[in-house]
Amino acid sequence: MIGEKDCGLYFVETVSKKQPVSTVKAAPFDPADVAARFSLAGRAAGFRVEQYGEIDGFPLIALTKRAPGKRPRIYLSAGMHGDEPAPPLTLLALLETRFFDERATWFICPVLNPTGLVRGTRENATGLDLNRDFLDVRASETRAHIGWLQRQPPFNLTLCIHEDWDSKV
Ligand SMILES: [Zn+2]
Repeated sequence: MIGEKDCGLYFVETVSKKQPVSTVKAAPFDPADVAARFSLAGRAAGFRVEQYGEIDGFPLIALTKRAPGKRPRIYLSAGMHGDEPAPPLTLLALLETRFFDERATWFICPVLNPTGLVRGTRENATGLDLNRDFLDVRASETRAHIGWLQRQPPFNLTLCIHEDWDSKV
């Protein structure tokens, strides 16, 4: 009889013949901690931080910073898919290093799917892919996000940032 452990080893060996399997595990993504860091760094960099919703105790936040004069309005979103943690973490690093300066008026929704991010799943906790939810809205996250978007002025540039998780080096 083959035990569960043996099956696991066999699986890893089979996969590793096709492509290397990384033994480095990503640190768990804590949406509440990441949102708190966005709030702290955002306020320090002159952003207005707004909580536009809450999902399972996790805040849905938006950061805005208006530049004086006529500047392009740039909107960035991240964290739509919970198995793509790089975009929120990259935006946080950019925020903490003061990338978002007065060249533009900035609008940032950095953690759109907290329950997916905490689970590491593409979908939210109820199994919905938020990126497929905008035409026939079912998820509370999407409804809150659309509500926030409708309160903003038109954007000159929109960047919905995702992670190319199936790319090959
Ligand atoms: Zn994605």
